[in-house]
Amino acid sequence: MKPLRLLLLCILLSCHNNPEEDPVIRAQNNYFKAIAKNDIQLSPPKEGEWLFEHQEGGQTFEAYKKAKPVKPTPNRSVIYLLPVGEFTALQQRALSLTREYVALFFQLETVLLKPIPDTSVPGRFQTDHLQLLAPYVLDTLLADQMPASGIALMAISAKDLYPKPSWNYVFGLASYTKRVGVTSIYRLQNKQLDTTNFSQCIGRLTNISSHEIGHMLSLHHCIFARCVMNGSNSLAETDNAPNRLCSDCQKKLYWNIRYDNKKRLRQLLDFCRQQSLNKNWELFQADNKAVL
Ligand SMILES: [Zn+2]
Ligand SMILES: [Zn+2]
Repeated sequence: MKPLRLLLLCILLSCHNNPEEDPVIRAQNNYFKAIAKNDIQLSPPKEGEWLFEHQEGGQTFEAYKKAKPVKPTPNRSVIYLLPVGEFTALQQRALSLTREYVALFFQLETVLLKPIPDTSVPGRFQTDHLQLLAPYVLDTLLADQMPASGIALMAISAKDLYPKPSWNYVFGLASYTKRVGVTSIYRLQNKQLDTTNFSQCIGRLTNISSHEIGHMLSLHHCIFARCVMNGSNSLAETDNAPNRLCSDCQKKLYWNIRYDNKKRLRQLLDFCRQQSLNKNWELFQADNKAVL
């Protein structure tokens, strides 16, 4: 390559790597640069996986900012979790730990509300009283349940969910604009929750809850790297998805909520250690080491 061409290429590359213009992000640039080294590219999707069946364009940091995402305000900043149905003592423990995790993940006060009975969903919006119609929960059941201080309200159902009569089931559903969502513990516990599958269930419930609440804060599916905001078509795909946000999605969440990035990371690390979420502990530990 001739020197002039090489110079031109260097100029082009340096233009591409322009310093971040947003002062809020610029102040945290070292943090995001450091953790970006731990981002893992997605492998080409295999048949049956989310991206094999859904064409998604992703959402850049700039696109996220331009979309005027749902943002907490001083008077509207609490995440509410609303259990729907009857839960065993161990399931209640799982809900309580999920509340703890969500508070750390989003660095926002998170409240677990008193459960409401699943008879709140009329029989015609249930299949043989075994599954609840998720859009009914979102559009009708949760419509007038949002406390004034709520930035997001997510129902967690004991029963299974289905999105429409032609689909068998759905793990969760959330609105990008209405600040409501729903997920279910039903399929996350291998039929019955006990001490042998408790940790696995916590890993799944925290993964799906942070994914759905991420949607409620206007985060779209991520196609840039392995990330908790990756779409999922099956429990196997969810089990393979990390609880970690990739560096691009972390940048979006930080820009939106503004918190101490390193403190958040240490708290998530402690939670994963205490709950034996070993694969996720390793990912958060790698980020923690990178930012030391
Ligand atoms: Zn999703
Ligand atoms: Zn991401």
